[in-house]
Amino acid sequence: MRTTSLYIDGEWGRADGAFTTADPATGEPLADCAAAGPAEVDAAVAAARAALPGWAATAPSERARLLWRIAELIEAHADELAETETRDQGQPLGVARAVSVAGAAEHFRYFAGWCARLDGAVHTVGYPDTLQYTRRVPVGVCALIAPWNFPLMIMAWKLAPALACGNTTVIKPAEQTPLTTVRLVELCAEAGLPRGVVNLVTGGPETGRELVRHPDVDKVSFTGSTEVGQEIAAHAGLKRVTLELGGKTPVVVARSADLDAAVAGTVAGGLLNSGQVCAAYARIFVDAARAEEFTTRLSAAVASLRVGPGMAPETELGPLVAPEHVARVDAHVRAAVAAGAELVTGGAPVDGPGCFYRPTVFSGVTDEMALARDEVFGPVLAVLPYDDEDTLLDRVNDSRYGLAAAVWSEDVRVAHRLADGIRAGAVFVNMPCVPDPAAPWGGFRASGVGREMGPYAIDAYTEVKGVWVHHGARA
Ligand code: NAD
Repeated sequence: MRTTSLYIDGEWGRADGAFTTADPATGEPLADCAAAGPAEVDAAVAAARAALPGWAATAPSERARLLWRIAELIEAHADELAETETRDQGQPLGVARAVSVAGAAEHFRYFAGWCARLDGAVHTVGYPDTLQYTRRVPVGVCALIAPWNFPLMIMAWKLAPALACGNTTVIKPAEQTPLTTVRLVELCAEAGLPRGVVNLVTGGPETGRELVRHPDVDKVSFTGSTEVGQEIAAHAGLKRVTLELGGKTPVVVARSADLDAAVAGTVAGGLLNSGQVCAAYARIFVDAARAEEFTTRLSAAVASLRVGPGMAPETELGPLVAPEHVARVDAHVRAAVAAGAELVTGGAPVDGPGCFYRPTVFSGVTDEMALARDEVFGPVLAVLPYDDEDTLLDRVNDSRYGLAAAVWSEDVRVAHRLADGIRAGAVFVNMPCVPDPAAPWGGFRASGVGREMGPYAIDAYTEVKGVWVHHGARA
């Protein structure tokens, strides 16, 4: 079993507390990790504060060079990082390589390009002989808190823009999956990032709470559950906050949909990482005329997926992250059965060691059922037929969430009408959901506050400062 430490002010060190992570494919212990308490969180924030003036003043080209170097190091260690992600989180090795590791490198590369483009503007103000311009300055010390489903990529999509904008950071991965973040911090140090610019505190919710409530933290960027997001919003006070929270992604399979594409895309969009995706396709509204055929084909595709350890090359669906999560997903499934939904395939854990759950399809789901409303965050798809296109948008939008949505239609008018009317941060037409560093990511309503990625991340990690210069003759 490996041992991991905290990284504070350029030094690795343990803490009084510790916790153990396990391999979800086997249940075997994987790592003994330091758990940061209040003293370590305080030291990490102090180190970030001390490093801030130097990092903020570092030439943009040098910041860009370091971010680019981190991307190169991620790629140079891609196989090792992917294997670590798979053992720690469970995702199939191919997903770890193509999504998690490649995505992390892409975020550093993309935001390297922003370092020298943090431009302001000149405004035409009404005062005579006055030049008014704006500058983008760092927000300050940023606390970056990540969930367990895509640990490396999500931390990269926070860390890269935070650093590009001249902020210093204290980062906290989820307690279930800290290992690739530990490795990322080693690579940041190897790239030559100055001490104190990235500080790592591993630990559970208590460590996160300490960080959120620390008076010297200027900004919190959190990705995780809506419940914890609400708690953070309540305690962050006047700190800047970005919240990327839960979802219950609706999908519309319209009468004009290409059914092959809709089935394949719903499987890809709904079951990537065993459905442990915030934007996972979950509520599938299907035109009643095609619902039976769609459900039959979807269930056959889902039932044929190979469930197994992420390290096995033939595996298409890996384990869920932890035994408690298997129990949570199973409780959602049992409740759906009790509520009268029809279980078409799956619906139970796989016997034996490891956190495996059979991919599951329900039909006959109605809008009031918990399965149509609550996030499962597992491999469970719910099919809801619709007859009436006029009331469809009301049904689709009847949700506390609004992170993502999908539409399958060959009729461009239907596709645009639905994309226009659905209230969600991203609508995917005829494709599975994907993140890209250049495009905004974030949710309406209970799915979050603010946007990450693209130029929106630059807004999220900078303050705008106005400067007014009077240059008229002295009176
Ligand atoms: P979680 O909210 O339980 O934990 C997320 C992180 O917050 C972890 O690092 C955890 O230790 C920390 N934490 C827990 N309680 C805290 C507190 N009170 N104060 C500060 N930090 C605290 O979420 P999870 O179970 O790790 O992740 C699953 C959730 O994340 C799902 O709801 C999913 O939809 C959401 N998610 C959202 C996005 C997005 O982009 N919107 C992406 C991935 C996951």
